[in-house]
Amino acid sequence: MAPARGVEVAHAYAVQLMQHLVVPTFVIDPQRRVVIWNRACERLTGVAASEVLGTSLHWRAFYEKRRYCLADLVALGRQDKVGDLYPEHTAPEDNRLGSSAENWCVMPRLGNHLYLAIDAGPIHDEAGNLIAVVETLRDMTDQKRAEMALKTLAARDGLTGLANRRAFDEALQMEWSRARGSGKPLALLFVDVDHFKLFNDQHGHQSGDECLRAVAGVIRENALRPLDLAARYGGEEFAIIMPGTGLEGACRVAERLRSAVIDLRIKHGADGAGPWVTLSVGVATLVAGSDVGPDGFLGQADQALYAAKHLGRNRVISADTMLADFARLSRGKDGPPKPVRVVKR
Ligand code: GH3
Ligand code: MG
Ligand code: MG
Repeated sequence: MAPARGVEVAHAYAVQLMQHLVVPTFVIDPQRRVVIWNRACERLTGVAASEVLGTSLHWRAFYEKRRYCLADLVALGRQDKVGDLYPEHTAPEDNRLGSSAENWCVMPRLGNHLYLAIDAGPIHDEAGNLIAVVETLRDMTDQKRAEMALKTLAARDGLTGLANRRAFDEALQMEWSRARGSGKPLALLFVDVDHFKLFNDQHGHQSGDECLRAVAGVIRENALRPLDLAARYGGEEFAIIMPGTGLEGACRVAERLRSAVIDLRIKHGADGAGPWVTLSVGVATLVAGSDVGPDGFLGQADQALYAAKHLGRNRVISADTMLADFARLSRGKDGPPKPVRVVKR
């Protein structure tokens, strides 16, 4: 039976309303064919309604490879898949009310990525049968970018641009767990500028800041492969995490840093210090089977650094060989090694 005239008019009115809604919206039928693609959706995606109406090609407006949109999952009753397809953010779902998600979309027609907040809600007839799914979209790209920039800023040290202590602590926990899981080695370098208090006293705090920036630059240029993380741990101390690096590689990097800073020829010359700014470096490595926790690991690097200071500064000492180094270098000089400090940070 043909629908009554009044129903047709109401339907046309509803479609008109949706067409002019300022919120980007499209509607699919239970077979997942596009029945409405409003103007705002055309503007957001760059895809004209005429290209998608009657088809199931709406995904092409958002992605390069074929995949389900949120409305498809709702139409298919597969809200359980929302978390897989939208890992970035998924709000708790309700089968009757629909689903919400957020996602970076490729937007092939526009050529620029957009971060979209998406809601998809089912529409049922009086008998409870699904007759359509409405998907609305909100462009959150600016907010998301701002949020990401803030996050990056919050993880950086203002003076040097390296990661800050908080970011370092998080990364150490993560890399420590990862190394335990994978059995791959993990190296940690603790780098400290020698006689930096004297440097400040001699050359002023401003020059001290410049010196720290220069040291950070050396670390950035000499120590950082893509997976490494270098941080300003505090004051004139830097810490570097190097996943997948063993003792030998870590000592090589540490030695390279030490000599690169000497090569900068930053004048020191204070009483009790050498002519140039130098570094002491403590190295610790985590190997498969070790039962040292993240704090203990940090403590090992710190103790190695302390040993480097105790043995005369401007040197690299590793936790693994520390006792042998002590015996060799302090023989007849300082007596037996004193107990190293226990880190309390
Ligand atoms: P050591 O060789 O044993 O490491 O001696 P040190 O003088 O380098 O170590 P100490 O811990 O005694 O002094 C660190 C100095 O670093 C003291 C502090 O004023 C200075 N410092 C810490 N943060 C900054 C900073 O951001 N800028 C400058 N210019 N100085 C800083
Ligand atoms: Mg120092
Ligand atoms: Mg220090």
